[in-house]
Amino acid sequence: MATFISARALAPGTIGHVDHGKTTLTAAITKVLADKKLAAAKKYADIDNAPEEKARGITINVAHIEYQTESRHYGHTDCPGHADYIKNMITGAAQMDGAILVVAATDGVMPQTREHLLLAKQIGVQHIVVFINKVDAADKEMAELVEMEIRELMTEMGFDGEKVPVILGSALCALEGTKPEIGMIMCKPGSMKAHDSLEAQVYILNKEEGGRAKPFTSFIQLQMFSKTWDCAAQVTIPGKEMVMPGEDSQLQLKMMRPMVVEQGQRFTLRDGFLTLGTGVVTKILP
Ligand code: GDP
Ligand code: MG
Repeated sequence: MATFISARALAPGTIGHVDHGKTTLTAAITKVLADKKLAAAKKYADIDNAPEEKARGITINVAHIEYQTESRHYGHTDCPGHADYIKNMITGAAQMDGAILVVAATDGVMPQTREHLLLAKQIGVQHIVVFINKVDAADKEMAELVEMEIRELMTEMGFDGEKVPVILGSALCALEGTKPEIGMIMCKPGSMKAHDSLEAQVYILNKEEGGRAKPFTSFIQLQMFSKTWDCAAQVTIPGKEMVMPGEDSQLQLKMMRPMVVEQGQRFTLRDGFLTLGTGVVTKILP
């Protein structure tokens, strides 16, 4: 039987205030997909390619970039953020099915963030994803505030601000293949190591102590805070079904990425705005 593949490419575009990282994100998308052989990597300079753009270091004409994911082909438009070039933004945005609104965590909502959102609304761009960029240069609280700010703004403008997908990241780190630093430690070289798997003894707060009202089971994902870092971690409860509030338990934690951690180190587990428990690392797992 023949497989039908839609030939129509989707046309997303990067919008947002000047210098918030639209071109860097566009280059980073092609780089990440090029690593999977789904796009030709475009350098930042290949996207910002008009001489005047290079001279002024801003995107003036919209740039069209092609890439593909496992499921779709995309013709992406990188839009200029500078106020003078809003007319180019309009002609570029007219071909957009969806937009990636780039907002720098270091700046938050700026004039062209609003302006581009308003334009997107007026020309009928239905699908918007927010990318909060530069999290490598902002602290977590700042990035969270920017997320709240953008959700509120979008609601105010008639989008579904509560449900809009918001992704936090660093386009520059993705482009350069480095990781944001969101925990640093000063130590003698070689004296500490980063690990992503550990066993711990944890006390789970009860409701009166500010914790959860309900028990939890294995595979719950929590945020782990220790020293200067925090990281998402998946929980496994060895040898039993669930852990009740007010109980203490042995847990295995698998962190999303390696962090500086050693036996005896204390940490806190949070679930959204709730402090769920506090614990101590008993063993580093291979
Ligand atoms: P655009 O005007 O929105 O297209 O922004 P650019 O992509 O030209 O980026 C503006 C500046 O921000 C450049 O100097 C980038 O290197 C820098 N930048 C972009 N992304 C990041 C990031 O994730 N972290 C940091 N620290 N800087 C970034
Ligand atoms: Mg640009």
